Amino acid sequence: LLWIAGGTFDLMDEIFHQPRWMGYYCEDLLRLSGMLLSAVGVYKIIERINLLYVDARSQSLKDELTQLPNRRFFIDTIREKEGRRLALMIVDIDYFKKINDTWGHLVGDEVLFALGKQLAKLTSDKVLPSRIGGEEFAIIVDGLSAQEVDELAQSILQNARAILINHDNPLSISIGVGLRHKDEPQNLFIKKVDDALYKAKNNGRGRVEWAA
Ligand code: GH3
Ligand code: MG
Ligand code: MG
Repeated sequence: LLWIAGGTFDLMDEIFHQPRWMGYYCEDLLRLSGMLLSAVGVYKIIERINLLYVDARSQSLKDELTQLPNRRFFIDTIREKEGRRLALMIVDIDYFKKINDTWGHLVGDEVLFALGKQLAKLTSDKVLPSRIGGEEFAIIVDGLSAQEVDELAQSILQNARAILINHDNPLSISIGVGLRHKDEPQNLFIKKVDDALYKAKNNGRGRVEWAA
């Protein structure tokens, strides 16, 4: 508005003669302060939009229930790490439908939350857990040996047993694990680990199985 007022005085100058002080104080000063305030205003707006964007982006990569990264994060991350020798674990809760059916969805959600919390604690630059589906979690491991990955998987299995469903029954999970060979396509790598998970299910659940 100050800028426009300055411009108006400038225009009026063409129609009738104005005293010199009006030119200085009304025209130039108003215009200059208007420009300055507009610049500060635009800066503040951009700053605010940027904050909103950063927040929206982080929310869009997060799972609401467990606060773990979500499936989109998992896909983006595994794509980013194309060509690296990675390990992947897919963790699936055993008989989760039965947990929901027996004790209700709220107890099911509590179990998901508790497992999500345990997995979140493992997060580091080498271990990246995420929730990729209903009761399925993926953990991308970058830079650990096969033996270290196996130890990690076994400890996840053990720790899950400390989660007591309805304060009573230890939680059982199954884990499929695999190493990505150099240049192995992403979909085949994920499929291989998924197959290992099904092997763990078929071999009695509550265990870790490695992909061939
Ligand atoms: P399996 O041992 O073979 O893995 O059997 P399962 O019962 O765990 O697997 P299934 O795929 O049959 O059932 C998964 C269930 O997970 C079905 C679905 O209702 C439930 N589910 C998915 N997302 C959520 C959620 O966010 N909260 C709750 N409480 N349940 C969920
Ligand atoms: Mg399941
Ligand atoms: Mg499942």
